[in-house]
Amino acid sequence: MQLKERLFQLTQAHFGRSPDQCDDGQLYEALLLLARDIAVRRSAPEGERKLYYFSAEFLTGKLLSNNLLALGLYDQVKQLLADLGRELEAIESLEPEPSLGNGGLGRLAACFLDSISALGLPGDGVGLNYHYGLFRQVFKNHKQVELPDPWLEKDSWLIPTGREFTVPFGTGAVKAVCWDMAVPGAGNGLSNRLHLFDVEEPAPQPWVGIDFDKGDVAHCLTSFLYPDDSDEKGRLLRVYQQYFLVSAGAQLILQELEERGYPLDSLADHVVVQINDTHPSMVIPELIRLLTGRGMSLNQSISQVSRTCAYTNHTILAEALEKWPMSYLEKVAPQLVPIIRELDRRVKEAHPDPRVAIVDESDRVHMAHMDIHYGFSVNGVATLHTEILKTSELKPFYDIYPGKFHNKTNGVTFRRWLEGCNPALATLIDGCIGPDWRRDTAKLEGLTAFTEDSSVLEQLLAVKQAGKDALCRTLWRRQGIELDPQSVFDIQIKRLHEYKRQQMNALYIIRKYLEIKAGRLPERPVTVIFGAKAAPAYIMAKHIIHLILCLQQLIESDPQVRPWLRVAMVENYNVTWAQALIPACDISEQISLASKEASGTGNMKLMANGAITLGTLDGANVEIAQLVGPENIYTFGASSDQVMELYAQDSYRALDLYHRPEVEPLVDFLVSPELLKVGDPACLSALWRDMKTKDWFMALLDVEDYIAAKERCIRDYGDRTAWAKKMLVNIAKSGYFSSDRTIAQYNEDIWHLK
Ligand SMILES: *Cc1c(COP(=O)(O)O)cnc(C)c1O
Repeated sequence: MQLKERLFQLTQAHFGRSPDQCDDGQLYEALLLLARDIAVRRSAPEGERKLYYFSAEFLTGKLLSNNLLALGLYDQVKQLLADLGRELEAIESLEPEPSLGNGGLGRLAACFLDSISALGLPGDGVGLNYHYGLFRQVFKNHKQVELPDPWLEKDSWLIPTGREFTVPFGTGAVKAVCWDMAVPGAGNGLSNRLHLFDVEEPAPQPWVGIDFDKGDVAHCLTSFLYPDDSDEKGRLLRVYQQYFLVSAGAQLILQELEERGYPLDSLADHVVVQINDTHPSMVIPELIRLLTGRGMSLNQSISQVSRTCAYTNHTILAEALEKWPMSYLEKVAPQLVPIIRELDRRVKEAHPDPRVAIVDESDRVHMAHMDIHYGFSVNGVATLHTEILKTSELKPFYDIYPGKFHNKTNGVTFRRWLEGCNPALATLIDGCIGPDWRRDTAKLEGLTAFTEDSSVLEQLLAVKQAGKDALCRTLWRRQGIELDPQSVFDIQIKRLHEYKRQQMNALYIIRKYLEIKAGRLPERPVTVIFGAKAAPAYIMAKHIIHLILCLQQLIESDPQVRPWLRVAMVENYNVTWAQALIPACDISEQISLASKEASGTGNMKLMANGAITLGTLDGANVEIAQLVGPENIYTFGASSDQVMELYAQDSYRALDLYHRPEVEPLVDFLVSPELLKVGDPACLSALWRDMKTKDWFMALLDVEDYIAAKERCIRDYGDRTAWAKKMLVNIAKSGYFSSDRTIAQYNEDIWHLK
């Protein structure tokens, strides 16, 4: 049936009217049903082996245009709507964004599912159906306030499956209901699934602070996503969520194995489980429990599971490595305790080194250690990160299992992060090298032939300008902020964390502010744009947001500074915002303390859209620098070796650096009369004190070098042709960072799906 007829039928059936009589909301619903139905009916990729990608987070973003693109219906639908005098953008703006993730880790999982389907590999996601995504951020009195973020409506991308499993908590069994979202593969007619487990009768409201031991687990387990990022709060509910996810997921795996006609003792031949960070680690003892429960010997079960599970490490931040007190597990999943103790006993017998034990002397379970001993693969997410794991953080494990360690440098799906968010750039690229890069991003290299083509360079600058103009309109509409689209757009968008060092960027702003006040005008106007949520319990991160918002306010009301320097923080940074910000970026801020950012993926998205990276040699920035060469990136700051040495020797002294004449006035501005008039003295002075006496992530170590590098960058921006060349080279070299490449490598080296 024709698309047009189908849409007509849908609007007739649901709203009793034809599409041209529908409002945008009704059209959204009809298009959702139409795309969902087509995606769900597609057949799944086939193969002897099937992947289950276990993740506590899938940050999918809005799905309407993404799925229409993957289904090959995007242009048709756009045209059909245009014929009705309607716009797909306006209709999609009504879609609630499912914020089922905190940041990079959850977004990576979503990019991976997109690529697994696009490559036609048999692989499903397994996660939780949180009813409230990551909180909605609003600003009040220059501070972050968190509001609930419901995303589920009467109709969503979820479809019921009829599959149910019983999860045997120590405090009573709870039924897990499996909902699916189809994940259509671009250009191949196939769909995988994202399985999201939910409780049977979810609580109608999110709740905060209830004692969930009192039977509320059954209703509240999937209420909300934990709003932490790389910070582990020892919270019992989190363990409940984790066990719910892995128990239901493990049961699904065994049920599907049986449906596919394979015996239990061939599990490792037909299933691979990728454990995305340690949140789903209990899948290992849970699978062992299920196998032994079905009559397999313990040795055989351990052997099968160890050949089935593979682990991805995402961080070396000590506070983010999960260690659960055994007492939690005794409450949540007592049946796993003897299994974990036996796994630990075997480790201790073979390896007396206490650093590799699963259960430590305080009776805490080190989830990553269990993954490494009882999984067949351990991977880091960028070359530098994997090297640090091998030589430092996980060295004792690497010494035991050198063959288990892999690097898989992260990637992003260019279907969302270039074709989807920047169609004008995609069209320009088509004009240069044809459309093949859309299937194989390595072909973007062909753009290097155009670095001397002045017409292409001019068009590239025009596309960037259009992206900036569009962002200005969006910011005006959503927040009433009017920016100068001719200024340099310097953008830092990522979770707020001290290691990512938004505070160092704030020091740059202070420096420019003071210079302008002293009559030294910059070479050209600069707009520093931020997007960042802070975990609600992360006090220092909230202080940094406060500082940025105070600086924004101070400058907005200062007619002397405002024409030259602006600060804008977008409210509620999420995937939708990212899609608007990334095409508008001139300078991509990737300024984490070297060794702390495992990979970063924002850096890749921005590069692919022609932003120039200003960054430390950390995470995947190192690989970006190698690919584009020193003329096309601005790097600065201490190396990861230097930083690790400072930590090892405990020799970093913030106070000494603070007293440098270039630095002290910047830090002291936090408690200056003009800023204290705008902000909360308690917050600003707490941040001031921390910065000059602790500064755990060493902003003061790199700040002078950072300011100098940023000044060079802003100066070079003035040579528009030279800058456009840098943009083009960055786009040309970005193809390596496609998640299609990453997934092909996972498949080649770890999964072997076909
Ligand atoms: C890509 C992305 C991230 C990750 O950004 P990093 O700079 O790599 O930390 C976080 N949040 C959203 C919404 C994203 O799209």
